[in-house]
Amino acid sequence: MSHPAPGGIDWAAVRAEFPILGREVHGKPLVYLDSANTSQKPRAVIEAVDTFLTRHNANVSRAVHALGSEATEAYENARRRLATFLGVRAEELVLCSGTTFALNLVAFSWALPRLKPGEAIVLTRMEHHANIVPWQLVAERTGARIKVAELTPEGELDLEGLWRLLTPEVKLLAFAHVSNVLGTVNPVREICREAARRGITTVVDGSQAVPHRPVDISALGCDFYAFTGHKLCGPTGTGGLWGRRELLAGMPPFLGGGEMIREVRFEGSTFNDPPYRFEAGTPNIAGHVGLGVAADWLQNLGMANVEAREQALLAQATAALSAIPGLRIFGTAREKAAVISFAIEGTHAHDLATLLDLEGIAVRSGQHCAHPLLQWFGVSATCRASLAFYNTEAEIEAFAAALHKVRGLLL
Ligand code: PLP
Repeated sequence: MSHPAPGGIDWAAVRAEFPILGREVHGKPLVYLDSANTSQKPRAVIEAVDTFLTRHNANVSRAVHALGSEATEAYENARRRLATFLGVRAEELVLCSGTTFALNLVAFSWALPRLKPGEAIVLTRMEHHANIVPWQLVAERTGARIKVAELTPEGELDLEGLWRLLTPEVKLLAFAHVSNVLGTVNPVREICREAARRGITTVVDGSQAVPHRPVDISALGCDFYAFTGHKLCGPTGTGGLWGRRELLAGMPPFLGGGEMIREVRFEGSTFNDPPYRFEAGTPNIAGHVGLGVAADWLQNLGMANVEAREQALLAQATAALSAIPGLRIFGTAREKAAVISFAIEGTHAHDLATLLDLEGIAVRSGQHCAHPLLQWFGVSATCRASLAFYNTEAEIEAFAAALHKVRGLLL
């Protein structure tokens, strides 16, 4: 099966930039279908980290010596590159270890001091645990309630139901831009507009969106947007939180320590401006340098090209999997990213994933950090194949053939 190359890009050459994709697993060529879990890294990112550690390594903002200035400049340059990639101002971009940190920062620094008993937070059924548990921790401490927006059987948000939930006691709405299990792309702009009309603050979990489609955060109308770097071709332990300047400016620090202060006295301390107020301690400097290069690299590739390429692969994979007897796909939203969660009647997801691994095919199995969603579907686990632009048509054919084979072995 062949597809036109979106944007005239030589995808084989792009794939060749990812050294790990050339390796074998269990004597078979690796077919990596777990990019929603973590993406692979192009050579440019690996080399940027290597160069930083080999030539420029020092702490940021603490030393006046040459390496200190180089490290600080490299780190701040990464912030600027990411801000450009995401359409925001660098001074509104807090660098942190990823979405989990970013969402906890909003929960503890924005929500905890504000929410009162009887007020409410709205989440959706499709959230990752990272966008559920921080709000539960804050709800417990403040007496606020959590309300849940439900889904249609296809795995889209029931928007009419969501609007009905947005009653006057709701102060915050936190939801995924793209679901990590279903691939559903939520209409962020429309949701944020409805929330803003009601004075509700919006927090968007962009973990699965920014790696797969063009995202201009400033056009979305949200108040906070979280993302994680390791799904974006960057190193682990990287990512960020964008927040409106006036909101960040009104938030107390989340963690205390070096770099986030203006002055420290034993009688009390004063704090730095955002984003530094929220970056206590030594950050993942090398990792963020790599992430800045990843953002540039993806921008050069063109996120619209990435999206078109992945949509073509998704269509091929959906058709191939639909032809497998007894296979059920969870999530058939009209607008969907390249994630396919599935189960095969009479088999267990972990058995499927284990046998696929022996064929060289890496898929995730389990609950995908989304217990409430899987409970709603009435299943204890699914397999998830998540694609990226560096996958190939031949890999999808190999995946479908392996699924036929392992199904035969298990039934
Ligand atoms: N939110 C979503 C939708 C995710 O898919 C993930 C990662 O799987 C996270 C949050 C958590 O990201 P991290 O572990 O990088 O903080």
